[in-house]
Amino acid sequence: MKKNNKTKKISIIGGGPAGLASAYFANNKGLKFELFEGNSEVGGNCKTIEYKNFKFDLGAHRFHDKNEYVTSLIKNLLNDDLRLVTTPSKIFYKGKMITFPIEFRNLLKKLDSKIILKILFENGKNIFNQNNINSFNDLVIKKYGSTISELFINNYSKKLWGKDTTLLSPKISGGRLKNLNIMSIIKIFSGKKHFEGFFYYPKNGFGMIFDKIKEEIQTNNIFLNSKITKIFHHNNKINALELNNTKKIEVDQLINSLPINFTANILEPKNTK
Ligand SMILES: Cc1cc2nc3c(=O)[nH]c(=O)nc-3n(C[C@H](O)[C@H](O)[C@H](O)COP(=O)(O)OP(=O)(O)OC[C@H]3O[C@@H](n4cnc5c(N)ncnc54)[C@H](O)[C@@H]3O)c2cc1C
Repeated sequence: MKKNNKTKKISIIGGGPAGLASAYFANNKGLKFELFEGNSEVGGNCKTIEYKNFKFDLGAHRFHDKNEYVTSLIKNLLNDDLRLVTTPSKIFYKGKMITFPIEFRNLLKKLDSKIILKILFENGKNIFNQNNINSFNDLVIKKYGSTISELFINNYSKKLWGKDTTLLSPKISGGRLKNLNIMSIIKIFSGKKHFEGFFYYPKNGFGMIFDKIKEEIQTNNIFLNSKITKIFHHNNKINALELNNTKKIEVDQLINSLPINFTANILEPKNTK
């Protein structure tokens, strides 16, 4: 008998935000699913880890109110544990805390006058910059000038995306980089504060969102310490997975949240010709 979509099982690789969200919605719709997470905990890059009674996020994570539906879903899951934060984040630079997103008034107080003059000159010059924007690096230089880009944006973005910013698309900014041109500087002096507005942050760290999603799913179908080591395919269809270098599991439908290069490395057979 042929299985219909309701009786087919969905296998999900990865228990980070993408994989967990897939499991959450599959569960809500009453679909059969199983999730394989290679690590001992869910959350992926968005985990909060505890060390000597202190909690640390992996990376500086903030929950941006970008999608009404997603925001209301997370609010309902966390209730009062989701806090609204209106304070800007800070970058620790040479013993000083620099507000992020970058604010000119804050830079004035924290950087020495030589650097400030350089920043002012670059941003003044930028008014006439008609260069094409082909990379994220071009975009940040256009918006902030090369000094701010090098000091506060490029390093972080390279860490975030794993590639030099000259190789990244301008689209990765997601519209979140505001201009630091002369007009914005005037606006700041006229009393406008903090460029990025606000964000949400859970009481016990960003990872709380994903722990809560896992708790909400209430299932035995999330398998931790379960690394997918091979993805078998035949006739252009994925048909099985290998778990922890040993067990082979048949697959009906697959949601794969691994980066495409990781996926390519574990495809079996490797050569499809
Ligand atoms: C420094 C930094 C700051 C960031 N700041 C923000 C922010 O403020 N706001 C925001 O929304 N986003 C932010 N992000 C982006 C966010 O972290 C990612 O968008 C998110 O983690 C992507 O989720 P994912 O599930 O696709 O991947 P991941 O989080 O990478 O999860 C992948 C999961 O798959 C598991 N896995 C890997 N290989 C296997 C395998 N073979 N078998 C089984 N499981 C496997 C991993 O253990 C992991 O749990 C930031 C990222 C970084 C690095």
